[in-house]
Amino acid sequence: MVENLNLFTSTQEVIKDGLHKLGFGEEMYELLKEPMRMMTVRIPVRMDDGSVQVFTGFRAQHNDSVGPTKGGVRFHPDVDEEEVKAMSMWMTIKCGIVDLPYGGGKGGIVCDPRTMSMNEIERLSRGYVRAISQIVGPTKDIPAPDVFTNSQIMAWMMDEYSHLRENDSPGFITGKPIVLGGSQGREKATAQGVTICIEEAAKKRGLKIQDARIVIQGFGNAGSFLSKFLYDAGAKIVGISDAYGALHDPDGLDIDYLLDRRDSFGTVTTLFENTISNKELFELDCDIIVPAAVANQITAENAPNIKASIVVEAANGPTTEEATRILTDKGVLLVPDVLASAGGVTVSYFEWVQNNQGYYWTEEEVNEKLRTKLIEAFENVYHTAETRKINMRLAAYMVGLRNTAEASRFRGWV
Ligand code: GLU
Repeated sequence: MVENLNLFTSTQEVIKDGLHKLGFGEEMYELLKEPMRMMTVRIPVRMDDGSVQVFTGFRAQHNDSVGPTKGGVRFHPDVDEEEVKAMSMWMTIKCGIVDLPYGGGKGGIVCDPRTMSMNEIERLSRGYVRAISQIVGPTKDIPAPDVFTNSQIMAWMMDEYSHLRENDSPGFITGKPIVLGGSQGREKATAQGVTICIEEAAKKRGLKIQDARIVIQGFGNAGSFLSKFLYDAGAKIVGISDAYGALHDPDGLDIDYLLDRRDSFGTVTTLFENTISNKELFELDCDIIVPAAVANQITAENAPNIKASIVVEAANGPTTEEATRILTDKGVLLVPDVLASAGGVTVSYFEWVQNNQGYYWTEEEVNEKLRTKLIEAFENVYHTAETRKINMRLAAYMVGLRNTAEASRFRGWV
């Protein structure tokens, strides 16, 4: 897809800028402008009707100078090579921002799980692990959930890997069910991280969460938990959407009711008649917008009409490069994806640490450690943006690339 190619090339541009501002030269950029490894696989799956369908899957590993690569696996019809590559690079930056001993990785399968049975999804998940098994592992590359993948899929993948390696390997994958070595707090971690970033951004703008009017695009894992946290904190969620449309109420939507009616893929708007479009959603009168769905949602077209003073990116890549410029020029505080969505991988790291030590923490311990890491990361990025007089995305890239660039230099790679 052309849009994903743009995502990839604009990521390269910001990496180039970030490395330059950190004082690294052209050779470091040559090393980090592409993933070090990219595997494309074809996965034959016996479908329920007896036919065989062959799916395409990818696994990208950006850089492993700091430690094993880490990142989710996405099941989506729009997945392609460029998107997976760009997302693996973002994972390096995310891990660097929250100071985790990982490089970035990412995987994806071109499929639409909404049209597949559980049995077909299980066979596809196991087939993917068999196909990529040579390049992944608890000390090499550690997958996790992403768009349309969940703890059940992680469990099947772990089981397949354990069979292949003839041992039990909980640290091979994160985002597992608790009984299989998952961490308390992992399911809600991305939303917790976004909430912490919203609170910190609101403080900077002198806004109280209880008084805030918030629009959330997406009602999947991040969007649904996030809307619940903010709703319980007293904020008015004035708009929310899924892939089929958006709901709007200037007095605030009843989030508990919507959560009750949402299906496992986050669809809820199909149950209502008076929906608005995703385009109208972004133009609503509100204080904070949280894109929590897919990439390329805030563009040069709709950015000028945004009324919010804070945009917090819970999704990966929701704002184009041009839109980032427009919002920054308008004085909008944009909290970039690589910072705002780092809560998920942070608790994934906690899960892997718990698996390695065989000792498990309470949800309170996990949340406390997550809060400490994210507040420090937010302050670091905000401070870098202020002192260097640059936008928050470039500042986040500078903070996030430092570990990997320095580790690559110490190793003598550059
Ligand atoms: N897929 C999530 C992300 O993009 C989580 C990755 C992980 O937990 O490793 O950050």
